[in-house]
Amino acid sequence: MSKIALVTGASRGIGRAIALSLGNEYTVIVNYSGSKDKAEAVVHEIIDNGGQAEAYQCHVQNFDDVKAMIRHITDTHGSIDLVVNNAGVNRDNLLMRMKESEWDQVIDVNLKGTFNVIQNVTRPMIKQKGGRIINISSIVGSLGNAGQTNYVASKAGVDGITKSVARELAPKGITVNAVAPGFIKSDMTDELSEDIKAQMLSQIPLNFFGASKNVSETVKFLASDAADYITGQTIHVNGGMYMG
Ligand code: NAP
Repeated sequence: MSKIALVTGASRGIGRAIALSLGNEYTVIVNYSGSKDKAEAVVHEIIDNGGQAEAYQCHVQNFDDVKAMIRHITDTHGSIDLVVNNAGVNRDNLLMRMKESEWDQVIDVNLKGTFNVIQNVTRPMIKQKGGRIINISSIVGSLGNAGQTNYVASKAGVDGITKSVARELAPKGITVNAVAPGFIKSDMTDELSEDIKAQMLSQIPLNFFGASKNVSETVKFLASDAADYITGQTIHVNGGMYMG
């Protein structure tokens, strides 16, 4: 029986690349929020490549919906071996102009969504006596970024959750790590102006933007047996833009 992986926000961008890269080793649950067709296209791509996958719609910020998703996975597939908390949004604005709703939306999806998934997956993983949890944070959680106070707070929070939960779950054989991408080409970064992109590029020592594959390969490594002595870490994938 193949192992089971849940990837949140796997219909597009980095999550899609992660789901595809896990597809030959795991049955992949492709979580999405609104993009049903895109999520189903990811599922078909995995199946066409000889793997197994299914799409599951769920807003990760809703605790009860996440609970139902995890219960569906364990009831249907018998286990949950790997979770990748990738779903994320940004609502950028300078702090003095930031609306309460912009703060709440970002914190809800990025931070509470990560809590919701980890909280619900912990019990089945403890029962299984093992598992892997990988959270997608961001370079800006370490650097800070003007115009992204909400997003930065959420991602710094994800790094903090990673360390605390890693300590709690290490005795149960569960590792918890974060991957912090720098500037990765995706729908999220396509929205930025050419000026901002040029400014970003000037800060990247390797002098090119990352691809989703750079992140998905790091996730694949952290999910593998080769990473069984790594927990509580944030691994930066950023072309040298931030060196911790
Ligand atoms: P993206 O292209 O905008 O895709 C976001 C994904 O998250 C989509 O699959 C979307 O689903 C899903 N999603 C959004 N809200 C959700 C919700 N409430 N519940 C469940 N799923 C939801 O983003 P990306 O650039 O690939 O980013 C992926 C992750 O990497 C995020 O956590 C982001 O913060 C982080 N990151 C990205 C970069 C970068 O340069 N791109 C850098 C650092 C960190 P739908 O398609 O259904 O809307």
